[in-house]
Amino acid sequence: MSHSQINHLTIVGGGTAGWMAAASISRQLADFNIKITLIESEDIGTVGVGEATIPSIRSYNDSLGIDEIDFIKATQATFKLGIEFRDWREKGSRFFHPFADYGIDLNGVAFHHYLARAKIADLPADPAQYSFATQLAWQNRFAQPHPNPPSPLADFGYAYHFDAGRYARFLRRYAEARGVNRVEGKIATTQHHPDSGNITCVTLGDGRTVNADFFVDCSGFRGLLIEKALHTGYDDWRSWLPCDSAIAVQSDKAAELTPYTRTTAKAAGWQWRIPLQHRTGNGYVYASEFCDQNKAESTLLDGLDSTVLTEPRRFQFVTGKRKKIWHKNCFALGLASGFLEPLESTSISLIQTGISKLLEFFPHNGINTADQNEVNRQHAHEFERIRDFIILHYKASNRSDTPFWQHCQTMNIPDTLAHKMEVFNSRGKVVMLEPEAFERDSWVTMYLGFHKFPQDYDRRANTLTSSQLAEQLEKMRNAVHQAASQPLSHADFIQRHCAAPE
Ligand SMILES: Cc1cc2nc3c(=O)[nH]c(=O)nc-3n(C[C@H](O)[C@H](O)[C@H](O)COP(=O)(O)OP(=O)(O)OC[C@H]3O[C@@H](n4cnc5c(N)ncnc54)[C@H](O)[C@@H]3O)c2cc1C
Repeated sequence: MSHSQINHLTIVGGGTAGWMAAASISRQLADFNIKITLIESEDIGTVGVGEATIPSIRSYNDSLGIDEIDFIKATQATFKLGIEFRDWREKGSRFFHPFADYGIDLNGVAFHHYLARAKIADLPADPAQYSFATQLAWQNRFAQPHPNPPSPLADFGYAYHFDAGRYARFLRRYAEARGVNRVEGKIATTQHHPDSGNITCVTLGDGRTVNADFFVDCSGFRGLLIEKALHTGYDDWRSWLPCDSAIAVQSDKAAELTPYTRTTAKAAGWQWRIPLQHRTGNGYVYASEFCDQNKAESTLLDGLDSTVLTEPRRFQFVTGKRKKIWHKNCFALGLASGFLEPLESTSISLIQTGISKLLEFFPHNGINTADQNEVNRQHAHEFERIRDFIILHYKASNRSDTPFWQHCQTMNIPDTLAHKMEVFNSRGKVVMLEPEAFERDSWVTMYLGFHKFPQDYDRRANTLTSSQLAEQLEKMRNAVHQAASQPLSHADFIQRHCAAPE
């Protein structure tokens, strides 16, 4: 017997978003006997990129009861300790954004204030020296974090790089085993209730119809239901994030199996390198106003470190977010809900948080406007906070060697970000607005990685004498370096524990 007014839920789209939603809903709402249908079109296909993640992907897999080793083998996954930023501050520079905090907070004062003091006192102030995860990454080593780390220095998170197509197929098997019914076909039209405007059914190109009480739009950039059918509207953020195009190719397995994503700043954007067990994913994200397609393609191909395996694929996008992800009886996830360029690999995590909202606010007893407003408020907040973090990467760069980078230096930024940057500059305080996807030390990475040391620091950091400070810092550096020299190489770790079949 159904305990819900929603008897039939239809998911439109079978990319990463569609199958993640199908897997979660079929497991988490199993008791409610809701019929779940997923429609996808092989003719249209999926976006086929989206292979770098952040650590929250592990809790998503855990929520489904997925075995980590099975998942890694099935998706040719590798481990990711963070992101390397090459040439971003200026050409020849590099810094690392680990999924971890730096050093140890002392006397209740955040560690980065001691770094700011160290910088002034000419002591070693490079945050990388105080990060176990960064040192592991620089040495291409990997170890799983200890469940109860003996010291905060040994605490870090990790994520994965995986093959997006294989991940969708893996989740498809999972969802179909839990009763999700897959329909192959191309949706041509949608029908609406004459009074409420709710979507009642979709009609496929061959005339079949699929009706439902509730629809989850995972149709990708086209936003087939949320936009084309319901005209929900979109916030366009291209004036703050000028990249609007990408080109992607797969290349051979990399000689160097880095436990991190590499992003290299280029003349009109940046290039990614994502190492998987069987191949490498590469792409150039760029601003079409400053670079044409041919130039983008040659930039990408010239920057590869292994042989190309596929034809280049091109993408165009409008950075921004859907004004509402929940409108009438339609809930949008994935690219249908908005898109922020993949510089910090946030899209899959946004699918996850979207699914969490859908499950938490699931309209078992009918759709309630207050619930919808709350979901849409959270969605807006979440996108805006990540947007500001990504804009910081461009705004804080010292590069002015090309028209694109000159534009980044002079472009306007949102007031929320301007405020954060000013407060950090004046006293090293990282302003956090409600829960943010990126925590305090991620912001510290960017400020210090771009050499934006604050002019002042929290004066409580002066409680230590200069020699005590030097001694504490040295102890931390030694502990980090000593521990980071022990683990296996990333390649050996995978070979030993979770190598995918050839
Ligand atoms: C260049 C680029 C790089 C990226 N890199 C990353 C990254 O490193 N990390 C990350 O987290 N994210 C990344 N992303 C985002 C990531 O790719 C997406 O969030 C993720 O793949 C989810 O996509 P989706 O399922 O929403 O859409 P899609 O993969 O486009 O799937 C849409 C689905 O809808 C179906 N569909 C559409 N129209 C119809 C129709 N009329 N009838 C029937 N079915 C239909 C399609 O067949 C398909 O199954 C990147 C995106 C881009 C563009």
